[in-house]
Amino acid sequence: MFENKGFVHSIESLGTLDGPGIRTVVFFQGCPLRCKFCHNIDCAISNTNASSYTVDELFEKIIRNRPYWGSSGGITISGGDPVFQPKFLNLLLSKLKENQIHIAVDTSLYTTKNVIDQNFKLVDLWMVSIKHMDVAKHKDLTGISNKSIFENISYLDSQISKYKLNSKIRIRFVVIPDVTDQKNHIVEFSQFVSQIKNLELVELLAYSDIGKFKWLEIFGKYEMGKTRVANHDDLRKVQKLINGLYPEIKIKL
Ligand code: SF4
Repeated sequence: MFENKGFVHSIESLGTLDGPGIRTVVFFQGCPLRCKFCHNIDCAISNTNASSYTVDELFEKIIRNRPYWGSSGGITISGGDPVFQPKFLNLLLSKLKENQIHIAVDTSLYTTKNVIDQNFKLVDLWMVSIKHMDVAKHKDLTGISNKSIFENISYLDSQISKYKLNSKIRIRFVVIPDVTDQKNHIVEFSQFVSQIKNLELVELLAYSDIGKFKWLEIFGKYEMGKTRVANHDDLRKVQKLINGLYPEIKIKL
């Protein structure tokens, strides 16, 4: 990757699914994980044919949507995973912050403490996805260990508290039948999440096989083939389990 240029898979001008209000969502190209259930796998792989921008070029393009954001919207940096291009991410966040834009970052937080240190004062809402609590199962599901992810969530939370920032952490969790929704797993997940002091809410997302065709096209296989897609009842079941243990945790379905 070029130091001062970023690779962008796509831009959604007026998104309503990735953060509060109406938002312009910038999907960075590239991700260090390979989640078997990823529905954006074409965005997660490295692809130097993706559109490249300097920060100023990208800013000029996305700022045009400002009139539509209202008081509750803003910009979400998603992907792929934004932390896969840390230098460009920092330059873009700094530019957005200078312009007093509400910023959300959608990430696995599989990164270094240094990247968190450079960026934690710039972001209003961290949307961090937890894939699985168990190290071996996480590795099987995503290709990497979850150890540093949990350390980074706790570190980010402690920095937000230490500097008395108004930033929040939203935890995103994909409910996958018989893979992530077992009772003992939800208990473990809830315990971890309940300790996040700057938690905004937990967002439960239903596993869908919408990305299957991309997997088949790129890798010639889709390993989640035997897994049932999740429905609203699956989400309600997980919500009930979490709130049975921790009624104070706000949940978004
Ligand atoms: S972290 Fe997100 S973008 Fe990356 S592989 Fe997993 S689901 Fe896909």
